[in-house]
Amino acid sequence: MPPVAQIVERCQQLFEDLQFNAVKQWKAAQPGRKAIGYMPVYVPCEIVHAAGMLPVGILGGGDALEVIQGDAYYQSYICRIPRSTIELGLTGRLDSLDGMLFPSICDVIRNLSGMWQLMFKDKYVRYIDVPQNYDDAVGGTFYRQEMQSLREDLGALRGAPISDAEINASIRAYNANRAAVRELYAYRAAKPWQAPTSEVYLLLRAGMVLPVEEHTALLREYLAATDQVPRPRRDNARVVINGSFCEQPPLALIKSIEMSGCYVVDDDFCLVTRWLLDDVPADGDPLEELSKAFLHRSATTAAKYDVRREDKGVFLLKQVKTRGAEGVVFAAPSFCDPALLERPMLQDVLGKHGVPYTAFKYAENTGQMAPIREQAGTFADSIKLWSAA
Ligand code: SF4
Repeated sequence: MPPVAQIVERCQQLFEDLQFNAVKQWKAAQPGRKAIGYMPVYVPCEIVHAAGMLPVGILGGGDALEVIQGDAYYQSYICRIPRSTIELGLTGRLDSLDGMLFPSICDVIRNLSGMWQLMFKDKYVRYIDVPQNYDDAVGGTFYRQEMQSLREDLGALRGAPISDAEINASIRAYNANRAAVRELYAYRAAKPWQAPTSEVYLLLRAGMVLPVEEHTALLREYLAATDQVPRPRRDNARVVINGSFCEQPPLALIKSIEMSGCYVVDDDFCLVTRWLLDDVPADGDPLEELSKAFLHRSATTAAKYDVRREDKGVFLLKQVKTRGAEGVVFAAPSFCDPALLERPMLQDVLGKHGVPYTAFKYAENTGQMAPIREQAGTFADSIKLWSAA
């Protein structure tokens, strides 16, 4: 098997493993190790890493998990990720985690953090609030306090305070990872036939369970390996996917969009890997630098507060322009308030700039791909017709 196929197969195995054996193996390698889960969209993993713990991205149960008990905890008109996450917890699949972090995304995740505290009383649980004011003296002070609390909690959990030097070392490790992910995204935008999004996605998912240093090495191995094997180039439409920042689409959906004639040149999957847009200085006050990066140099989703109406859509438009995209596919989870309420405002911005778009909804266990393939295929065809005109 060529090296690139071996890397993708390894990532696929990690992706399918709902028992989180990679986490168990990491913990077993050294007694006393701890792992901390976190939900989308972003948490400062550097602080978890600085405590010597493994940050583990929990992105729901996907399409392979049957939700039986989880349904009893939520009404039916709600997205699926909280129900499948509860199912993962109740069936013992998350027992290897010593704690869970619930970042501020929406009311669903906020409520899930409260339920987690009631259901798993022996585990560390924290709701991570993020600033909605981007002034360093206001939102920055608040966010630094949030991170300081997390730092103190994790220090207590490991039995020793976390030093600035430890966090700075972790910032360096994550800077290297972010640089590798940026390279991967730039490579895919330049040669999308060489780095299909179904593979890029699996690589990102591997980063949810592997130690960051190992993930960075894996990304670099993939980039070197895939460039060695020329693949056929197609006359596909170049699109950005938007709205998939929390509950993840099934892998088959990503493949269907690609098979329908689209090259995905940017997206908002697993945003924790790209939330901070550039290197965080690793030689100063680490919490201040992490705060500044969040406030002034981070990605934008519907889950992040926009202070001014005119800021709406700017990030997406930039993705379209810098990646040379010809259109946008809005793909969001059913009942996802943040993504679906934001969508008309983003569509309005795209419409004003003449960027074509199409839109649909999914659930992490959507099984019927034919309608999505037809819709995405028609969209790709129409782009090709318009560009030819
Ligand atoms: S999918 Fe949307 S509504 Fe559901 S938890 Fe995530 S952000 Fe909230």
